[in-house]
Amino acid sequence: MAADAVWRMPASFRIARILGDSYSLRCLVFHDISATRSPFMNGISVSITPKKFEAALRFLTAYYAPVHLQDVLTNCDGRGLPPRAMLITFDDAYASVAQWAAPLCQQFGVPALFFVNAAFLDNQRLAPDNLVCYVATLLGMETINAAVRAVPGYETLELCSLAEVFGAFFPAISLDERELFLDALRQFSGINETRVANEAQLYLTSRQLRDLSSFDFEIGNHTYTHTHCRSLSQQDFVSEVDRNKTELEAVSGTKIRSFSQPYGSSKDLTPELKEHLERSGHKAVFLSESVANPRRPDLLHLDRISTCAETDAALFSEIEILPRLRATRNRLLTT
Ligand SMILES: [Zn+2]
Repeated sequence: MAADAVWRMPASFRIARILGDSYSLRCLVFHDISATRSPFMNGISVSITPKKFEAALRFLTAYYAPVHLQDVLTNCDGRGLPPRAMLITFDDAYASVAQWAAPLCQQFGVPALFFVNAAFLDNQRLAPDNLVCYVATLLGMETINAAVRAVPGYETLELCSLAEVFGAFFPAISLDERELFLDALRQFSGINETRVANEAQLYLTSRQLRDLSSFDFEIGNHTYTHTHCRSLSQQDFVSEVDRNKTELEAVSGTKIRSFSQPYGSSKDLTPELKEHLERSGHKAVFLSESVANPRRPDLLHLDRISTCAETDAALFSEIEILPRLRATRNRLLTT
């Protein structure tokens, strides 16, 4: 409400600076662009309609200076970037980004960075989150809980919501345990995942991925199968980080030099992962905790604002007000 009032004032951007004037690069992250509700995303807030996305682009191009990743890498101290530099990104491998977002971005002259999981290209399988949402929509939490209890050590666990699956269960388990859970889920639900994935066509085809460069989209790494990274071993880094990079480079014909953390939490960006990313040629790493990036940010710890905002006032609040307040809160908590 207060942010709405600030937005309506003539000097709104200057007023927002009172909350912290060292805010440098603004980054946004979008996921799925879709006009209809999908059972594969029911329970996760990742969709925005093409109309609202277009309205967001209109707002962003009116008040911000869209930049390429290269601009960020070249001007890492922030001084060479234009005022209110804005980097637009997308996470996951949704085909809707190629279908709706890329043409709109091109129309508005906005470059973008798209973080992709190669395992889902060409729709042979579903991403774990989409499979879980789909089963929960069709059969309810009972089937999800039955699959959870098939994982050794979790025989008595009772999850009440999908938020608990993605926010508590997934971060706690290893890649092997997640595979056991997903196998049990496929078995108990009776779903033929390959057929469902093929019919749904949720994700990019290899051709769509290749064509994105003509829309001024750069491709980045988002792990091979979209996984939390806090408990990954060195061997897992090879199968999730390196494999994704190699496959995306082979399909896209471009160099992969950036990484975005699945689920966006800084808890997953462990010192081991950071070191591995740097060693394997990643020049920038993105989270999504919606915190303002400081001047001279650490390129291996850039934050993004995850948004499904529907009005200019809400976008203003999400980009200018809330990230500064979170940055102040974080500073106070660490001092
Ligand atoms: Zn993701």
